[in-house]
Amino acid sequence: MDNYLDTSIEFLKGVGPKKASLLNTELGIFKFSDLIFYFPFRHIDRSKFYRISEIDADYPYVQFIARVRRVELIEGKGRRLVVSVYDNTGALDLVFFQSIKWMKDYLKPGADYIIFGKPTVYKSTFNFVHPEIELYTENARLSLGGLQPVYHSTEKLKAAGLDSRGISRLTHTLFSGFNAEFKETLPASILESLKLMPRNQAIRMAHMPQNAELLQKAMFRLKFEELFYVRLKLLLQNQAHKTQFKGYQFGSIGDYFNDFYAKHLKFELTGAQKRVLKEIRRDLSTGAHMNRLLQGDVGSGKTIVALMTMLMALDNGFQACLMAPTEILATQHYQSIKELLEPMNLEVGLLTGSTKKSQRNKIHAALQSGDLKILIGTHALLEEQVKFKNLGLAVIDEQHRFGVAQRAEMWKKNTLAPHILVMTATPIPRTLAMTLYGDLDVSVIDELPPGRKPIETRHFFENKRLSVIGFMKREIEKGRQVYVVYPLIEGSEKMDYKHLQEGYEAISRDFPGIHISMVHGKLRSEEKEFEMQRFVKGQTKIMVATTVIEVGVNVPNASIMVIENAERFGLSQLHQLRGRVGRGAEQSYCILMTDYKLSSEARVRMETMVRTNDGFEIAETDLKLRGPGDIEGTQQSGILDLKIADLAKDQKILAIANSFAAEVLELDSGIMKPENAILRYELAQKAKNN
Ligand code: ADP
Ligand code: MG
Repeated sequence: MDNYLDTSIEFLKGVGPKKASLLNTELGIFKFSDLIFYFPFRHIDRSKFYRISEIDADYPYVQFIARVRRVELIEGKGRRLVVSVYDNTGALDLVFFQSIKWMKDYLKPGADYIIFGKPTVYKSTFNFVHPEIELYTENARLSLGGLQPVYHSTEKLKAAGLDSRGISRLTHTLFSGFNAEFKETLPASILESLKLMPRNQAIRMAHMPQNAELLQKAMFRLKFEELFYVRLKLLLQNQAHKTQFKGYQFGSIGDYFNDFYAKHLKFELTGAQKRVLKEIRRDLSTGAHMNRLLQGDVGSGKTIVALMTMLMALDNGFQACLMAPTEILATQHYQSIKELLEPMNLEVGLLTGSTKKSQRNKIHAALQSGDLKILIGTHALLEEQVKFKNLGLAVIDEQHRFGVAQRAEMWKKNTLAPHILVMTATPIPRTLAMTLYGDLDVSVIDELPPGRKPIETRHFFENKRLSVIGFMKREIEKGRQVYVVYPLIEGSEKMDYKHLQEGYEAISRDFPGIHISMVHGKLRSEEKEFEMQRFVKGQTKIMVATTVIEVGVNVPNASIMVIENAERFGLSQLHQLRGRVGRGAEQSYCILMTDYKLSSEARVRMETMVRTNDGFEIAETDLKLRGPGDIEGTQQSGILDLKIADLAKDQKILAIANSFAAEVLELDSGIMKPENAILRYELAQKAKNN
């Protein structure tokens, strides 16, 4: 029966060459089996038929049977077809702006139709715009009634008659010719302990649900299976990494670390910082290679953790480096780390694209001799001439901007790979981290240093501009500094610049006599640095910028962040920008200025920013709004190949899948036990298909 599933989709009744080619290109469906594993993304309950008098304007999707009274074409602007329908309890209108000709022919006065749609409020009443509609017959009622799968389709497919219902019809046709069973893919022990529906039943149920309860069990089973194998594979990779890749063993904690901790650290570490340092310490002492992701919200104190990890390397006779994504950031790290280490007489080097040749040569030599133990810089660190005597640890800040390939570059610096600590201030929802970074271990700093005043965030429309300006003035008079950030306009550097320039001019007019800096992507790095430094030193009070200041910059006296056209920024970017303030003792503010017209998604973004400062909560919301595909870092990961699970919605199932996968490996790390043969087989199958 396997042959049947391997049949080319072209040969399914109702498909043919033209539709087949669309299914190939639009949905990646080539064979019968591809259609089977093209699962509906949701189901709608069409078991209930409403009467017109029962329907309210604020109802979600509803279904009713009604008779057409009149079909009227309204010409001119807003050309539309208005269809009046009624049953014995009331009447309402259906409105069509498209497919007018087709609808006009299809809708016959006096005939009954099954109508499915969502009421739209219009003036003081409501109507249905573009509902799904089908001529009433007893057969149609039976096939439409009940739970219906909804499949993603595309414009091209819809035009060829393959909308969600069209795809559903094909699936029915396919199953009617297929009586064999889908093989089970999970071991009996898991099926039993979770009381999972057998795979054969679950696959059929997802496409042709019998009732809500069975459907729910089917979906759980299929999502669980998918996520379970994702986790099992990643856990195996992680395990392999730990056993195959040797790392330097940092056996001891010595004077560098202890002196710093006891004498030079000016504050108490937070509980979270201590816990993370322990996790790192444990990694470094095993002799396996450390590959750890350190997540922590902006301002949670990752730098100190990184520095203390570097000191562990030094204590064991190794060098350490820290790589940042921009020159500004690298320089700031350099300055703060240099300052922290000054009392210990520890030299720190800085290497960026603009380091002078003579200085560069000095650094190269000192690295090779081992005299220079700590180097900080940009991706200039990856250049071939940069050779360490014995690099034991590489810290990489803001991982998203580097990506996985560059992490690997670091490895080539030694015979043994240095330990890697990746820091990111873009919190990634745990579920995503779990699926994205299965090969990394993850530490989380989930606690801010004490005494921070939460940043107050407000959202204003243009009509409040004057009072915002007044507020900025008063804060500047108190001695504070202000950021004003403009969005990048996609695809138009020229427009960006114009926008920014206009903003700068407006601000110059509104704040006469106040010194203003401007930084944008077109400046050379010395110019950028010069302007930044003027702002850092307090010589300028307002920093007008594009998002170049997004990452890492630390000016504790800047306590106000104004974001212009905030609706153009994604949530995580807004949160990153906001993290530039709230670094000093003063109360800080973030002001989101937007257009009046906001999409509902943009409104959620603004509300979320106003409601919470918690980066993880924001990341979760972001994931729900955009879906995993749009979150940075997911593109290359392969998790987008998920066929049925949804990382934004199925977090609980992922957690369950994870614990089951971990338990399997705990009891049978090599997956050698006979009862797990099925797992070994499936993993091999999946590896073959990739
Ligand atoms: P981020 O995680 O954003 O990189 P930083 O490491 O820059 O955060 O820390 C932000 C600020 O908080 C720095 O000024 C740092 O000195 C300070 N800080 C870090 N840890 C603590 C702590 N445990 N107690 C008090 N202040 C701290
Ligand atoms: Mg930082």
